[in-house]
Amino acid sequence: MTATRILVLNSGSSSVKYQLLDMRDDARLAVGLVERIGEETSRLKHTPLTEGGRAREQNRAIADHDEALKAVAEELARDGLGLDSPELAAIGHRVVHGGQLFTQPTVIDGAVLGEVERLIPVAPLHNPANLTGIRTAMSLRPDLPQVAVFDTAFHTTMPESAARYAIDVATADEHRIRRYGFHGTSHAYVSRRTAELLGRRPEEVNVIVLHLGNGASASAVRGGVCVDTSMGLTPLEGLVMGTRSGDVDPAVIFHLMRVGKMSADEIDVLLNKKSGLTGLCGDNDMREIRRRIDEGDEAARLAFEIYVHRLKKYIGAYYAVLGRVDAVAFTAGVGENAAPVREAAVAGLQELGLAVDGELNAVRSDEPRIVSPEHARVAVAVVPTDEELEIARQTYALVANRAGEHHD
Ligand code: ADP
Repeated sequence: MTATRILVLNSGSSSVKYQLLDMRDDARLAVGLVERIGEETSRLKHTPLTEGGRAREQNRAIADHDEALKAVAEELARDGLGLDSPELAAIGHRVVHGGQLFTQPTVIDGAVLGEVERLIPVAPLHNPANLTGIRTAMSLRPDLPQVAVFDTAFHTTMPESAARYAIDVATADEHRIRRYGFHGTSHAYVSRRTAELLGRRPEEVNVIVLHLGNGASASAVRGGVCVDTSMGLTPLEGLVMGTRSGDVDPAVIFHLMRVGKMSADEIDVLLNKKSGLTGLCGDNDMREIRRRIDEGDEAARLAFEIYVHRLKKYIGAYYAVLGRVDAVAFTAGVGENAAPVREAAVAGLQELGLAVDGELNAVRSDEPRIVSPEHARVAVAVVPTDEELEIARQTYALVANRAGEHHD
């Protein structure tokens, strides 16, 4: 196949992030983002990574996703990387919610669009934005394969025992209430990369992946297959996050409604935007929290302890789910950079074969690496995630396969 480039689009409610990759060597040709779409001060930052390329920035009102994508297409064209290039093989879209139906990356057609739309009630913040991005990209290049890569897909292998909530089955089914899980592209990439780091095949290893970014989730991966994950119907369940509470007693919500006189929407904002580290200490950035702890700030210290306590509980839970664990892999902004979080999360777990080596853990690097002591029973690994590369690979594999079939 001569067309070897993939454009990856991640369309959020007010932003579009994109990367153009060449799949012959996974090289990035351009990266960028448009943010504050719909506001007066939108910003487009485009960075060509071809030789001699320089970052360019536009600060102007960009009304909607249509205008944003057209502006991105123009920037790419200025670098000779336009959407009309015959080298562009496909566009890969991150789609947050694929429900139970989408277990694999999928070439988008009318039926797929309809299904992603049908899932809006369970992903009201994400799927509409994803759909807008897809529709705009389709209008720019109607002839090009557009592929949806779902955040939920990797988790569709979870057994019913992990995916079902213990609530009335008929009610749950009527409203499609179950645990779907998110960050799946990252969990898939990192669990596979961790196996590589151990020099083994994914089928041979059991990994606990801790994706700790602004959003955070854990997963238990047995032989390359996800068997449990901490996010549920929505990305609110599970770990303590930057601004999300993670697990709470559901009765907290009735209490806030009945006694606190708050509306469902107010509680939604409280638990999604004003909780987690922000709710506990006013900061959601782990760097800032560590700085405050160093200055003796009590609220920051408690926030850190609550964050780590929850993390440790999930490590223990997934250890039990897996029975045998070969590696615990830390990834995303906090997981990759915050050595104190990694150290505290496994502190006291020597009996489980888990520990970090102080020196190895303190090393800063962009490379996947093992930070546990030599000969440790369980490897503790730091494995930088790369969701865009994973989306590009899955997209390319799908269209290359299709092209192959057509030639046969
Ligand atoms: P997103 O979920 O938005 O993709 P990221 O994976 O980029 O988030 O993670 C962002 C978070 O990573 C920041 O809010 C911050 O808490 C944390 N972080 C980034 N760099 C560092 C660092 N050097 N030390 C500690 N934490 C960091």
